[in-house]
Amino acid sequence: MKREVDISRVIGQYKEMEDFLSGGFAAVKVSDAEKILDEVAAEVRECCRCGLGESRKNAVPGEGSPKARIVFVGEAPGGDEDLQGRPFVGRAGQLLDKMIGAMGLTRSDIFICNILKCRPPGNRDPKPEEIVRCLPYLKRQLEAIRPEVIIALGAHAARTLLNRNDAIGRLRGRFHEYYTSPEAEPIKLMATYHPAYLLRSYSPENRRKVWEDLQKVMAELGLPGPAAKK
Ligand code: SF4
Repeated sequence: MKREVDISRVIGQYKEMEDFLSGGFAAVKVSDAEKILDEVAAEVRECCRCGLGESRKNAVPGEGSPKARIVFVGEAPGGDEDLQGRPFVGRAGQLLDKMIGAMGLTRSDIFICNILKCRPPGNRDPKPEEIVRCLPYLKRQLEAIRPEVIIALGAHAARTLLNRNDAIGRLRGRFHEYYTSPEAEPIKLMATYHPAYLLRSYSPENRRKVWEDLQKVMAELGLPGPAAKK
């Protein structure tokens, strides 16, 4: 419990500092987004802002379309991702691919990344200081892409982006608002269960809940789904 409070406090302080120093969000042209994403990826691959830079095999900046209407944000790379330098390529990634496919989309339509860009050893939970040091990269990615919806996968992603400590079961199922700065228009954020959690608890009820969350995003964006696209 104490650790969760610390994450919220530290991230809150970080956001206040970022908003004060940045002076707010300036709209990014779609044509510039790809360049910014490339710059962020290059910086991430060289980054040693936190200790994970020493232990990683490969940094995992994220990948996908600079024009994505949806950005999926997970917690941190796992072992497969660390080996390949790509997000969500293990078993959880295969399930995420199915979720994306069920929405009538492919990976090339969306952008996928994590709160942390390097793997915590043994897949332990992210530490607050690691999140604080890594979060500026995600913020720049979201500012560049400016998606219509962010889908936060799992408790760590949802709590970090929303600066709340609620359980994922309380955060999922409805839209929240994510602000890149106080002046910027909010981006809708849907929280849902992480695919890795679904694999561990692959019950019909949990699958139904995730599908309901995804359907709300599809309705929000007017996505027809795979059947209607045929
Ligand atoms: S996790 Fe983030 S802050 Fe830490 S070394 Fe990797 S890119 Fe840098």
